[in-house]
Amino acid sequence: MTTATPTTESTAVTEESRDAIFDELGFPTDPDNLYTQTVGQMLSAASLMDLPHRTRIILAQPKNEVIVNFPVRMDDGNFRLFKGYRIQHNNVLGPYKGGFRYHEHVNLDDVKSLALLMTFKCALVRIPFGGGKGGVKVNPRTLSEGELQRVTRRYCAAISHMVGPDQDIPAPDVGTNAQIMAWFADTYMLSSGQADNNALRVVTGKPVSFGGSTGREKATGQGVSDVLAEMLPGIGIPVQGMTVVLLGFGNVNSWAGRILQDMGAKIIAVMDHTGAIRNDDGIDCHSLAAYSEKHFGIRGYEKQATATGSGTHASHGVEVISEEELYKTSCDVFIPGALEQMIQPKQAAMMDCKVMAEAANAPCTPAGDRVLRDKGVEVIPAILANAGGVTVSYFEWLQNKSCVTWDGEHVDRELNRHMVIAARRALAARERYSCDLRTAAFAAALEHLGDVYEVRGIFP
Ligand code: GLU
Repeated sequence: MTTATPTTESTAVTEESRDAIFDELGFPTDPDNLYTQTVGQMLSAASLMDLPHRTRIILAQPKNEVIVNFPVRMDDGNFRLFKGYRIQHNNVLGPYKGGFRYHEHVNLDDVKSLALLMTFKCALVRIPFGGGKGGVKVNPRTLSEGELQRVTRRYCAAISHMVGPDQDIPAPDVGTNAQIMAWFADTYMLSSGQADNNALRVVTGKPVSFGGSTGREKATGQGVSDVLAEMLPGIGIPVQGMTVVLLGFGNVNSWAGRILQDMGAKIIAVMDHTGAIRNDDGIDCHSLAAYSEKHFGIRGYEKQATATGSGTHASHGVEVISEEELYKTSCDVFIPGALEQMIQPKQAAMMDCKVMAEAANAPCTPAGDRVLRDKGVEVIPAILANAGGVTVSYFEWLQNKSCVTWDGEHVDRELNRHMVIAARRALAARERYSCDLRTAAFAAALEHLGDVYEVRGIFP
């Protein structure tokens, strides 16, 4: 289900919307290319404002693109070669920042696109970081724990010349987690000869016992919830009792589901890579998250009630549905929190929601976006909706730098403040430029990036 690479339908950067910068920089003409699509969204925001050509071309390409191939000894004694990436998109606002993912479909253009989104996300929430992203082309579920550790340590060694606490700071993303960050930090600290607290800042999203921040694990889901709580009253949807559909149930959406449920929302359908379920009376995301962690997915959750023989079990009333039925489920808020490019025109046409909050990065193609806009769906773009993760990463980096520990309440309060201000900033830009919220969020970020380029100038 959600892990399959979607076949993209003819979409996106159409002839008439293709910016001249694409040809100037020799971009591929393939309209389904994710990087071309992402740059297209950025350039359409740029076209609404008075942004110099030099700033547009700088932001249309990453500063550094690195591909590494490294061998790892597998448990059977054989060696396997892995391909890894680290893209540093822009550092005009501060060190490059962004996660690295382990997924079998990782490729250069997608990582470039995700790195660009990080630049804009950090600029929108006004944290002093640029944008970067990395990844290794591997399905982590096929690796033993030892193999996963060796892949992580070799990937870190392969890119260690370009990362650092004040140069480029990775973090978790799809298929990576706090344990992987701990191995990454340990490898960096040992191989760079900096076994001190300062070197800990080379990655964020670490375990709390090893320099991680309270609240980082749930941060992206918390940020999605904070943005929704801020924006929904203005759209006429009370959070109390609103209905939610979750596409994906990994770290981000399992937390968004639990937090929204605790705020009074009803999660009525959930899909992950193992299946889809529905319950109009509400699915208990706390029990579903515990089940999913134990069984590596939500498949089989509905059978729990019969297995325990208890009609009052949390999964009571849950039924299995098809992927199509999930998309068609009528709800107030639809939250795609899985992979990119999943919402294409076909899925968008089936969707029956008032708001789509992008918890994943780039989950919707431009063509899918147009279908949703024509249907009057309010789309809260990823650079706003999912900026909570990197915001708490910034808090973690700050805590490591100043050798202090924030409590959960402090993290939540500061995160909420950043998310609320970012949401208001995007809404104000929408008024100023009379455009959709995605373009407005890019424009609000571009204003900041443009200002800094203006005052810094271009060297030499
Ligand atoms: N991978 C997350 C994102 O896409 C978090 C990045 C970070 O914390 O640096 O926003």
